[in-house]
Amino acid sequence: MPVEALGDYDDNNIFARILRGEIPCTKVHEDKWSLAFHDINPQAPTHVLVIPKGRWRSWADFSAQAPDAEIAGYVRAVGRVAKALGLEVPGYRLLANAGLDAHQEVPHLHIHIFGGKPLGAMLS
Ligand code: 5GP
Repeated sequence: MPVEALGDYDDNNIFARILRGEIPCTKVHEDKWSLAFHDINPQAPTHVLVIPKGRWRSWADFSAQAPDAEIAGYVRAVGRVAKALGLEVPGYRLLANAGLDAHQEVPHLHIHIFGGKPLGAMLS
């Protein structure tokens, strides 16, 4: 089910539980601001999710309210992860679903990194 309209952050969402170590993940990167791990249901040969450690529901609240240092740390982490995965030269796609129409399922901000094959035209 996609997330409802923006409301309070749900501390029991699946990515909050992964951040607390209550649910395992296949970690590929962790730093002060972010955690990156393989998607459980990959849609490309490489499909990694990068999440901020802060309590942000989506791009909407993160971009409007997160401190600049946190935004910078998170954005840089996404680039570092893509590079570390060997995707910088062949290329990759970033995707962040925000809200109901985008069918965001997990109400903790996450950026998908897709790569490992030619991805074709933009997703619809
Ligand atoms: P969204 O539709 O919210 O942009 O994407 C959520 C993503 O989280 C989906 O691609 C889904 O496969 C992934 N996902 C959901 N639950 C888990 C989980 O427990 N572990 C991992 N690694 N990925 C998950």
